[in-house]
Amino acid sequence: MNQYDVAVIGGGAAGLSAALVLSRARRKVLVVDAGDPRNAPAAHMHGYLSRDGMPPNELLAAGREEVRGYGGDITDGMVTELVHDGHGFTALLAGGQRISARRVLVTTGLRDELPDIQGLRDRWARDVLHCPYCHGHGVSDRRLGVIGGTPGAVRYAQIVRQWTHDLTYFTSRDILTAVERNELLARGIGVVEGIIDQLVIDDADQLRGVHLRDGCVIPVDALFVPPRFVPNSALLVGLGCDVDGDGWVKVDTTGRTSVPGVWAAGNIVDPRAQVITAAGAGSAAAIAINADLVEEDVRNAVRDLDHGFTPTPTTNAHSKESA
Ligand SMILES: Cc1cc2nc3c(=O)[nH]c(=O)nc-3n(C[C@H](O)[C@H](O)[C@H](O)COP(=O)(O)OP(=O)(O)OC[C@H]3O[C@@H](n4cnc5c(N)ncnc54)[C@H](O)[C@@H]3O)c2cc1C
Repeated sequence: MNQYDVAVIGGGAAGLSAALVLSRARRKVLVVDAGDPRNAPAAHMHGYLSRDGMPPNELLAAGREEVRGYGGDITDGMVTELVHDGHGFTALLAGGQRISARRVLVTTGLRDELPDIQGLRDRWARDVLHCPYCHGHGVSDRRLGVIGGTPGAVRYAQIVRQWTHDLTYFTSRDILTAVERNELLARGIGVVEGIIDQLVIDDADQLRGVHLRDGCVIPVDALFVPPRFVPNSALLVGLGCDVDGDGWVKVDTTGRTSVPGVWAAGNIVDPRAQVITAAGAGSAAAIAINADLVEEDVRNAVRDLDHGFTPTPTTNAHSKESA
């Protein structure tokens, strides 16, 4: 069984950024990645300083190369189980491989659950969008719609309004409060109340409208949908990490969970994280993990000294191997 300082589970922006910092800190690090980052369906990634417009897979390919350049290992695979093994943690991969590590960082992201509307999922990241900061600029001044009816959807529509004057808010009947209705109308946002039947797609494979159950078709060029965010946190929950009232694993500002030795970063604990913030959170977690390992290295060195062992020039496993 391979023994690592840190196992990073999930190789998106958060995980690879952490692995880069850890491998540069001369830690023996492994990234296990199932290869399905959340923004994979998008053709371009926006809002990442100096990388705006880059295809998402290019960023991750560059990140993998950088991690490997510092001696970090990357394995394609799915971790199915993570257990405390007394000294650290053992991760079991779908193919049966076992990985042992002193610390784990889980960066497995989240799933976007969309409303059950015919044709919606097929248009995801094309003309059915969720993040105005990612996609708003690309559809600015077009005929946009927001699928409402969920908590926070009116506020979300007011944000989408930043990118167009032609915005329609779709909702079921009798849900809007008088205040919400007034706020929408005050900013020129049209309100359509009814049940959405399906999306209207033209011969050129473009979204053209929303077909309501009463037969009306409301023209739109793109639809914004606030998804339900579901964290991929089964591994952390299985380890006994504390969760908040909404089921999200609790972490401190460095990503440390309630279970010693276990960190989490990126969308798995923060649905608002963009690629750049997920990468930043991974980096912060890596620095905290290295500090935690150094504390353990000091404890072990003092214990060895007390038992009469002669100190070696370095206690760093990775540098010893590569020396
Ligand atoms: C359609 C779309 C477009 C977007 N566009 C933008 C944009 O333009 N700009 C922007 O800043 N943000 C954008 N985002 C948000 C962006 O996707 C996230 O901010 C980012 O992916 C979060 O990174 P992460 O590392 O936390 O998770 P992810 O990127 O989702 O990476 C998680 C990784 O963990 C892997 N994984 C999951 N479970 C396991 C397991 N058990 N074992 C091993 N590996 C596992 C997954 O396969 C995946 O590779 C977009 C999101 C969507 C849905």
